[in-house]
Amino acid sequence: MKPRIEILRGDITKISADCIVNAANSSLMGGGGVDGAIHRAAGPMLLEECKKIRREQYPNGLPIGRAVATKSYGLAKNGVKYIIHTVGPRAWRDNIELLKDCYINSLMLAEQLGCKSIAFPAISTGAYGVSIEDSARIVRSVLKNYESGIIERIMLVLWSERDYEIYKKELGDLS
Ligand code: ADP
Repeated sequence: MKPRIEILRGDITKISADCIVNAANSSLMGGGGVDGAIHRAAGPMLLEECKKIRREQYPNGLPIGRAVATKSYGLAKNGVKYIIHTVGPRAWRDNIELLKDCYINSLMLAEQLGCKSIAFPAISTGAYGVSIEDSARIVRSVLKNYESGIIERIMLVLWSERDYEIYKKELGDLS
């Protein structure tokens, strides 16, 4: 089954989906941008669970392209069950094609968790400097032929009007 792809403009902390994806950094200790917004909305228990994941699974930090899930805490009020944390590549030092792994591994984890809907921000396109055009191209390459027995809806949530317009142009035919 091909999931329905929706391109939305707004704040991912206001989205109702079984899971939302966080553009985390490898420390998992929170940060600015969407990461900060998700930690603020979820509350301090989220940081506690992230610290536990660091201690028990990733003492050296979460590698680029990998994904881990936590509970959603304060975001449960939106119907969110899980937050999937993934670390995008930094445009100035990493291979930006690793962004593909962020999306694929987040989708695989969401399936394992039985999520029917998932919302993504435009990972790496803020502080990590990947252009929205490269993001749209890479997301397109992942979603073009993506099928799932579990996921029915994929939401791509863009913060700025410009990013939203570019995603609509580059990915609108998939939605
Ligand atoms: P990264 O470090 O991976 O680049 P950022 O959080 O700096 O992550 O930015 C990723 C994208 O998330 C940017 O396009 C930014 O505009 C967008 N963004 C910031 N806050 C939010 C939010 N609350 N909801 C959705 N997207 C957001």
